[in-house]
Amino acid sequence: MHAAQRQVLVLGAGLAGLGAARHLADAGFQVSVIEARPRIGGRIHTSRSWAGMPMDLGASWIHGSKANPLTDLAKTAGAQLRATSYDAAMMLDGTGQQIDPDLRAPKALIAKALRQAENGSRDISVLAALQALPEWHRARAKTQRLAQHLLNATLEQEYGAPLAQLSAWYGQDGDEFDGPDMLFPGGYDQLLAPLARGLRIHMGQSVRAIAPGQVTLDSGQTIRADHIICTLPLGVLQSGRISFGAPLSASRQAAIDGLQMGLLNKCWLRFDRIAWPGDVDWIEWLGPTAGAWAQWVSLARAAKWPVLLGFHAAAGAQALEGLDDAATVAQATHALRQMFGSSFPAPVAAQITRWGRDPFSMGSYSFNAVGTSGHSRAALFGPEWDGQLWFAGEATSPRYFGTAHGALISGRQAAAGVAGI
Ligand SMILES: Cc1cc2nc3c(=O)[nH]c(=O)nc-3n(C[C@H](O)[C@H](O)[C@H](O)COP(=O)(O)OP(=O)(O)OC[C@H]3O[C@@H](n4cnc5c(N)ncnc54)[C@H](O)[C@@H]3O)c2cc1C
Repeated sequence: MHAAQRQVLVLGAGLAGLGAARHLADAGFQVSVIEARPRIGGRIHTSRSWAGMPMDLGASWIHGSKANPLTDLAKTAGAQLRATSYDAAMMLDGTGQQIDPDLRAPKALIAKALRQAENGSRDISVLAALQALPEWHRARAKTQRLAQHLLNATLEQEYGAPLAQLSAWYGQDGDEFDGPDMLFPGGYDQLLAPLARGLRIHMGQSVRAIAPGQVTLDSGQTIRADHIICTLPLGVLQSGRISFGAPLSASRQAAIDGLQMGLLNKCWLRFDRIAWPGDVDWIEWLGPTAGAWAQWVSLARAAKWPVLLGFHAAAGAQALEGLDDAATVAQATHALRQMFGSSFPAPVAAQITRWGRDPFSMGSYSFNAVGTSGHSRAALFGPEWDGQLWFAGEATSPRYFGTAHGALISGRQAAAGVAGI
């Protein structure tokens, strides 16, 4: 059948869905996009509720800007980019003293635990790997505390994953692009316009069932298509809210069941002035509880704004999702006063995410849980039901899972697959 006669229905208007729809619309296919939210972008979500200061509540960075397809898209969109650097960082101890601790011993402990796990006969979690290491139990309290901080910063925050679930073998798999990480001072959502231009996007329409050749919405409406590209987040696929009219292949179903959704949340705080060192991008705090208010990004250097962003991941993020905004801001202010002194100002405004409770995301991004790997993602990606259904989205990317570029690349690949049938 000629492209112009083939109807393609794309489920989800995040980067994967929009990337797929753009590719197919440009190739002459009849494309419609179904999106449950009243907006496009999915986990790209720029809030413009603070005048002149767009805040990204989902993704913030292009991770590795060299040869990254998002960099090209940013150019097409005319979006400004600004580099942040992990070298522009400061670390404070529990009393707010600036410290520069020797990280060799905690790093060596973590590396040894993971090396030992690699030599084991079966995959275990990062936590189990640490606990299996006699040196971990003998380590000084200070070394253990620094190791916990590193584990939070480099694994829990990066993958959103609880250490008790993150695979010691494959948890850190995945490739990166070279080049600096780039922020969008004007908002990440600037990337969406060139993808979405001219597309038929039906918003506020939630998918309930997917069957060969047709999709049913919550409203009861049924839409027919020659091909369906499903970019719904892993958390949504796992929730049981979407029914499939024919069985999925065993390896795809195993991937859906085995891969896990991680959690990373953001607490954006705006102040009346920059009351902290303005020459750093990252502020780390070794406070009383590992992982609690431990990682901050300052927009003072990159954008000259009096704005701090506190990150929480995994269990820490889960716990905070149970608090309302006022209680979260009170915790943040208490932490900042321990870090910078009791006269540190209270924020004038806050924007707080709860991605775990978001019914159209059900988590922040996927991670390789014990027993899963890039093979699980390769099994999740691609065609089902003789090419009538295709899967794409961040969780389907063996090399770039958990990222915005991984989502875009997977969507374009699924579109190329549909076009090639
Ligand atoms: C807090 C946070 C920080 C992040 N930071 C970064 C970063 O700095 N850099 C980076 O590269 N990546 C980052 N990521 C990851 C990145 O945002 C995602 O990997 C990427 O945006 C996922 O795109 P996607 O198209 O696969 O999924 P999504 O963007 O989630 O798109 C799926 C779409 O499906 C829709 N949907 C869900 N259920 C239904 C339904 N039943 N019916 C119809 N539609 C439905 C959703 O509303 C959504 O629009 C971050 C994510 C989060 C949450």
